[in-house]
Amino acid sequence: MRQPLVVGNWKMQGSLASVEVLLGDIVSATPAAGVAVAVCPTYVHLAQVVSMCRLSSLTVGAQDCSHAQAGAYTGEVSPAILAEIGCHWVILGHSERRQYQGESDALIAAKLMSAAEAGLKPIVCVGETREQREAGTAEAVVRAQLEGALQGQANLGQLVLAYEPVWAIGTGLTATPEQAQQMHAFMRACLVDIANVDAAVTRVLYGGSVKPDNAVQLFAQPDIDGALVGGAALLAADFLAIINAAAA
Ligand code: PEP
Repeated sequence: MRQPLVVGNWKMQGSLASVEVLLGDIVSATPAAGVAVAVCPTYVHLAQVVSMCRLSSLTVGAQDCSHAQAGAYTGEVSPAILAEIGCHWVILGHSERRQYQGESDALIAAKLMSAAEAGLKPIVCVGETREQREAGTAEAVVRAQLEGALQGQANLGQLVLAYEPVWAIGTGLTATPEQAQQMHAFMRACLVDIANVDAAVTRVLYGGSVKPDNAVQLFAQPDIDGALVGGAALLAADFLAIINAAAA
């Protein structure tokens, strides 16, 4: 019912030459059927990546967007511009933006509204820190982030959620499949009462040090519908192995 989705978040990595090689390797390997695959390069590499993906089944996303569609917002890129250039997706509320750019739930909600208006499919990230998990507040933190982003939104038909425990991002630590499954089921339950969204059709991705050797067990969980992949998305062989695990 929910087609698995694997999204590569390339973060602030790559050059014109390295993108050509990495994406060339992914596209030419023809990723497994039955899995939706997207890559999210820097803004600067979007046009190149959209062009390279044109004849493949891969789709393209941005790692962020402005809350506005146009105007005097120096340095920002609007959802309308991203949609026009060929983006399908936009990652919102990534923990690195919450941490380094101080993004609040209110700003993420405004970006979500604009992204949906422009026809982009939002991938909204939530997740607790290590301290919050150890204090037993992980679910309360995630619920508050979901409420902050989703409450009052009208246009969530294309919504994708990503559970990304902050302590697992780029650290080599991964939530156990059981920890991830528990949180994903909790998030699915939250969706119904917070946003009246059809939780049965909404994909909930896991992110946080997903690698070929842990992907199979994570994807075997009933509420894990794919992954948001950072480091391993920069290695074509690893990214393809993760896609294949999602297809299995
Ligand atoms: C991410 O940046 O969203 C992420 C999950 O990174 P990594 O896979 O490197 O932990």
